[in-house]
Amino acid sequence: MDLRIPCVCGNGIQCDRLDLIVALPCPVCGREIDVEYLDTERKRRRLTLTVVEGPQMSGQRFVVPIGEDLLIGSTGQRWLRLVDGAVDGVHCRLHATAQGVMLLEDLKSSTGSWIGAARIVTGEIAPGQQLRIGQYSLRLDREEVERPRIANQLRAHRIQDEQEEQAPRLSRVAAPGFSRWIISQRFNLARGLTSTFGWLAAWLHFRISSPHWGLDPAYSASICIAGGVALTWIAGRMSMVRQGWNLAGAIVPGFLAIIDTALLLLAPTLAGGAVCWFNAVMCGRHPPSAGQAVAAFCVNILTLIGLLLAAMLQSGG
Ligand SMILES: [Zn+2]
Repeated sequence: MDLRIPCVCGNGIQCDRLDLIVALPCPVCGREIDVEYLDTERKRRRLTLTVVEGPQMSGQRFVVPIGEDLLIGSTGQRWLRLVDGAVDGVHCRLHATAQGVMLLEDLKSSTGSWIGAARIVTGEIAPGQQLRIGQYSLRLDREEVERPRIANQLRAHRIQDEQEEQAPRLSRVAAPGFSRWIISQRFNLARGLTSTFGWLAAWLHFRISSPHWGLDPAYSASICIAGGVALTWIAGRMSMVRQGWNLAGAIVPGFLAIIDTALLLLAPTLAGGAVCWFNAVMCGRHPPSAGQAVAAFCVNILTLIGLLLAAMLQSGG
């Protein structure tokens, strides 16, 4: 059953996510309507009035605004209009305090205002108790407001982000100038250069490590092949849909370059640093500028040629 939020002025306020709202403005009169209060146990609660019986509106539920004088009657702009011959134009007044106490005051009506079986001048309505106005019976309820957990909200947003990221965008990259192809193919280039670097560096490591460090050639070869495969795998995952993999594609060669620096291997250090820089330029979320892309591409090609030469020299020596 839907919950209506009538303003003091009689206007019905629209709200899709009442569970997230504490107060909301009325677009007609500009009043800010409090739809919740904090009880003594510091729980958020909402007061609702349900039409249990009546000539009209049976089963409808209304949020009771907090701290407002709410007029109930059969004519004009009332908070709640009960159309019935036995209800006066202005029949009675409801008031919910900031502590959630609900008071009813009869406004000298001809048929009276009733709480339970008692006709009252003023009185307090307990939760679950019914009031009678003309032919209408209404019940007051005090509901605890259940807030959606922040973790659930975050998960919903994360799923939304991922769905957005899954849209393939390589073909839709717009970049002016002659290097449009380079820019639109930047992930393929980054993958290709990272893989090339991985295998050249693995070869060079094999040539250096096996004779100089006295390692068994089969052992040395397996480590180098594993390294090449790992880097090729990371490169293959680089795409426009997963920022994490693009970041890994930029960081892993840089990390390997740091290790190679410690091992005093100049050529793989330079190549790793250059591939890392290239990936960072090419795999950012926004397309790089034509100049940046061309510069990064040239530096990488030159560095990889240097790495190839170093590996060949090592083979020859
Ligand atoms: Zn209003």
